[in-house]
Amino acid sequence: MPVLSPQPSLYNDLYQSSPRTAEILKAKTALSQEAEQALIAHIKQLLTAQNAVLVSHYYTSAEIQQLTEETGGCISDSLDMARFGNEHPATTLVVAGVRFMGETAKILNPEKRVLMPTLEATCSLDEGCQAEEFAQFRAQYPEHTVVVYANTSAEVKAQADWVVTSGIALKLVSHLDDLGEKILWAPDKHLGGYVQKVSGAEMVIWPGACIVHDEFKARALHRLKALHPEAAILVHPESPQEVVAMADVVGSTTQLIDAVKRLPNPTFIVATDNGIFYKMQQAAPGKKLIDAPTGGAGATCRSCAHCPWMAMNDLQNLAHILETGANEIVIDEAVRQAAHRSVQRMVEFGRSVRK
Ligand code: SF4
Repeated sequence: MPVLSPQPSLYNDLYQSSPRTAEILKAKTALSQEAEQALIAHIKQLLTAQNAVLVSHYYTSAEIQQLTEETGGCISDSLDMARFGNEHPATTLVVAGVRFMGETAKILNPEKRVLMPTLEATCSLDEGCQAEEFAQFRAQYPEHTVVVYANTSAEVKAQADWVVTSGIALKLVSHLDDLGEKILWAPDKHLGGYVQKVSGAEMVIWPGACIVHDEFKARALHRLKALHPEAAILVHPESPQEVVAMADVVGSTTQLIDAVKRLPNPTFIVATDNGIFYKMQQAAPGKKLIDAPTGGAGATCRSCAHCPWMAMNDLQNLAHILETGANEIVIDEAVRQAAHRSVQRMVEFGRSVRK
């Protein structure tokens, strides 16, 4: 079994203990259809005037994803977001997602201006793996190759040999295992445990978790599957082991969208953030998508297969940052250079396994 030490300072109760996040979400106001259309037209003008492009994650709202498509931007997982931002000629990248995604864009593109609709959109994996604690953990395993998930701060990435996304984690760890390397993995314990089980690699694993995926429940999933025996179960590997064990397909967001297109099933039970339904419906119109069950009596989060931080990105704050230039990502240059090495290796490894 992996070594689990030390305990991270934050994660499971992070959202509950973040009144600021709750406050921002509560204060969101619904726009009339006319106001929304006017705002969208305004954002489109601002994007063009500022030579800016939108780079959005699959977990953002349907409005943001649609606007991203209409303006020639990119909707994807963290790996492709990083790759797109790096290759696109725009001088401003507007990253709709959570903070580490904006930081990754800046790490790869120091010459570009990187703006985010909100800098308060964080991630429980990032928050639960603070740089100083991670440095202490790492010091216990000087012989290990340090592999960190993209969902970490620039300061943690700066300490890593490799950065990975869920799309390439298994391939990279298997590759390092073939080379005889021992792995220190952080911060997602479920993804790390899954990769360890499948690859057989020798790993020590930091015990972080995603507050969204950690809430999927295997027992309720069994009941839901009994009601929909025709459904295929799709699971992101940040989910608990018992949920992953029930999956017909385990994969990154991009791999799960591909599964909806590829598999003949008419129905899919999806254990990841339901923001992904926008792209799944587009990829396979007519197929039925059902949220995998979260919560149950006593859970901290009931029926909430949606990241509260991703939900903080909206059209209003998007327009605001384009008007004002607020929320620019700034990273200390020494940290950026150290993080660049491991992020660039991720991009290159991702490219090589995609060939
Ligand atoms: S869904 Fe989970 S892993 Fe993704 S940003 Fe939200 S908290 Fe982080």
